[in-house]
Amino acid sequence: MTRLYTAQWILPVATPPIRDGAVAVQDGRILAVGPELEVRARLARLGTPEITDLGQAAICPGFVNVHTHLELTALRGRLENLSFFDWIQTLTRLRGEQMSAQDLDIAAQWGVVEAARAGITTMADVGASGAGFRALRRGGLRGIAYQEVFGPDPMQAKKSLASLKRRIEAQRSEETELVRLGVSPHAVYSVSALLFRLVIEYAEREGLAVAIHCAESQAEDDFMRTGQGPFAEFLRARGIVWTPPRTSPIRYLSDLNVLRVKPLLIHAVRATEEDIGLLTFHGTSVAHCPKSNAKFGHGVAPVGRMRRRGVRVGLGTDSVASNNVCDILDEARFAQLLGRAVQADGQWLSADAVLRWMTLDGACALGLDDRIGTLEVGKEADLTGISLAGPHLEPVYDPVTAVVTAATGRDVVLTVVQGRVIYDGQQVQTLDEARLQHHLPSLVAQLSSGAPDAS
Ligand SMILES: [Zn+2]
Repeated sequence: MTRLYTAQWILPVATPPIRDGAVAVQDGRILAVGPELEVRARLARLGTPEITDLGQAAICPGFVNVHTHLELTALRGRLENLSFFDWIQTLTRLRGEQMSAQDLDIAAQWGVVEAARAGITTMADVGASGAGFRALRRGGLRGIAYQEVFGPDPMQAKKSLASLKRRIEAQRSEETELVRLGVSPHAVYSVSALLFRLVIEYAEREGLAVAIHCAESQAEDDFMRTGQGPFAEFLRARGIVWTPPRTSPIRYLSDLNVLRVKPLLIHAVRATEEDIGLLTFHGTSVAHCPKSNAKFGHGVAPVGRMRRRGVRVGLGTDSVASNNVCDILDEARFAQLLGRAVQADGQWLSADAVLRWMTLDGACALGLDDRIGTLEVGKEADLTGISLAGPHLEPVYDPVTAVVTAATGRDVVLTVVQGRVIYDGQQVQTLDEARLQHHLPSLVAQLSSGAPDAS
């Protein structure tokens, strides 16, 4: 069966906008893209297609969110105004002590509901529990589910690796064409050099993608350059010897030969010129999460310079515990405006480039650009439909400008992954929204009590 998605505008990203256009989809792939009349004429021999007409709307490639923590969705609004160190400590305690496996599953599925409703079709998710992996599969989204591993004590490295292996092996048979597993050694202050080496060797052997939080904060920089600050004190209090390498976190990972596997580096806020050179040299991708970075007061990643020097940078929301929404339209607009503000350049990044950032650039950062990221014949049919109607959107001179400068995730009216409708503008089709929502008040009660924040 062929299905035709028609709308006032099609924004293929690979080619200019098409007025009164159509995208034809068959067996999960894009069969044709063009003006509706032309597409219909071309497909006439295939019989009468099913038609979904979005009317006054734009259809673009599905949005790619290159950094999330779905299992933390229940903590939206729970960890406000904490220092970064206290935020991590409180988060770890709440996740570890106050959330059952079922709670984490509910949180992750609720996060998928939010993402699908915001037109996000691909997520690169980091988690310690496997809940993100399960939620992506049940929700029908595309993604990479990186399994997190921690262990700052080199004495514990082999044990940490063994537990990671167990988790990966237990889930490996459940990988699908859409959702793959990866590994995520958490960060330079929470993973020993030995554990980094072991995990990277394991990932290489098993063909697993790697993601690492890196160069996010001043505290992390202090830990690396001087051996001072809250992360160093935390290790000292546990009797773990830490000799700072006196380099940047990115240089440290390069020296450990970790960058050879082209990991996705999450944040890179504090990347220096030398660091950017290393990222370019190794072909390392970066997940840019500007709202999370701003919320913590970490600063602004030098994405303008990274992009100019050819680093593949995707946009990520990070968890809703540090954002507090999972909305790539909102994130992209923030990234563009912030970039213009800090570079004092009101022409930095056109609307076309921002749309590409949310779609094709994200796909490139994850190595998925041969399958998704544009609306082109033969690519897999991941589509997002956005309404262009309403007082906050009209008048529309240019559809890309309208989408990038005025629309939010709440204007999304259609989300399709590999030809399957995940959100039809009314309901997420793959998950029971009402059942999940019903669980939230008890989660709030449970996570409010017994675990005061650090304020
Ligand atoms: Zn993160």
